[in-house]
Amino acid sequence: MDFLPPIAYDLDAAQELLRQSRRVVVLTGAGISTDSGIPDFRGPEGLWTKDPEAEKLANISVYRRDPDVRKRAWRRRLESSMWSRRPNAGHQALVDLQRSGRLSLLITQNIDGLHRAAGTDPALLVEAHGNVREIVCLSCDRRFPTAEIAQRVDNGEEDPSCEMCDGILKPAVVFFGENLDPRDLERSFAASESCDLFVAVGTSLAVYPINETVTMAREAGARIVIINGEPTMFDRIADVVLRTSISVVLPALVEDLPPA
Ligand code: ZN
Repeated sequence: MDFLPPIAYDLDAAQELLRQSRRVVVLTGAGISTDSGIPDFRGPEGLWTKDPEAEKLANISVYRRDPDVRKRAWRRRLESSMWSRRPNAGHQALVDLQRSGRLSLLITQNIDGLHRAAGTDPALLVEAHGNVREIVCLSCDRRFPTAEIAQRVDNGEEDPSCEMCDGILKPAVVFFGENLDPRDLERSFAASESCDLFVAVGTSLAVYPINETVTMAREAGARIVIINGEPTMFDRIADVVLRTSISVVLPALVEDLPPA
């Protein structure tokens, strides 16, 4: 594959595209949350790939059959620092974009819940890999607030089960070996096919099928802006590539953005 230079690298060009746009789809990945202190879990350089134990704890078939794995997973979750993290200026900037009336959908691959915590409208948000706010029963599909189950683990239940049906509980996040929710995919694809600007933020765009949204948007005639610390395989089809700090560039991008 030949990597042609993108049309422009500059912030001004991205700002202009944003001003002209009316229907923006934003796709975010781990890079937007690293400035909140959350490590990249799923990227090629991510925590899970460097930590086979962590990957095992998030493999659905292992999780289903091995109570010891579940006990270790619950203990690890309690110790996880993800609970105390706060949204950063990058998350906030996307709320400002929403307030300008341009956001048609925010798709995130992150499970940290920080877009919602920042104030993104849940109706305009697809958390494609789920979120850590809720725990789901693998048998009856009931959902429980994570805090409630965490409290039970804290009280000594090593492998808490569903209070309704005794089924196995797991965080409402997509594990290895599980499929994305088809409704989420459908919404993401539909929005991407009808947007006039697609902005990818902090994602290497390596995860299929969510990365299909970029090509769909492009083929439908949308302009493409990619903001990421490293090159992505879609840079060559982007109108603007900004390879810089997300929590710095996103606020600059939406600054003085007039209502749509
Ligand atoms: Zn149940």
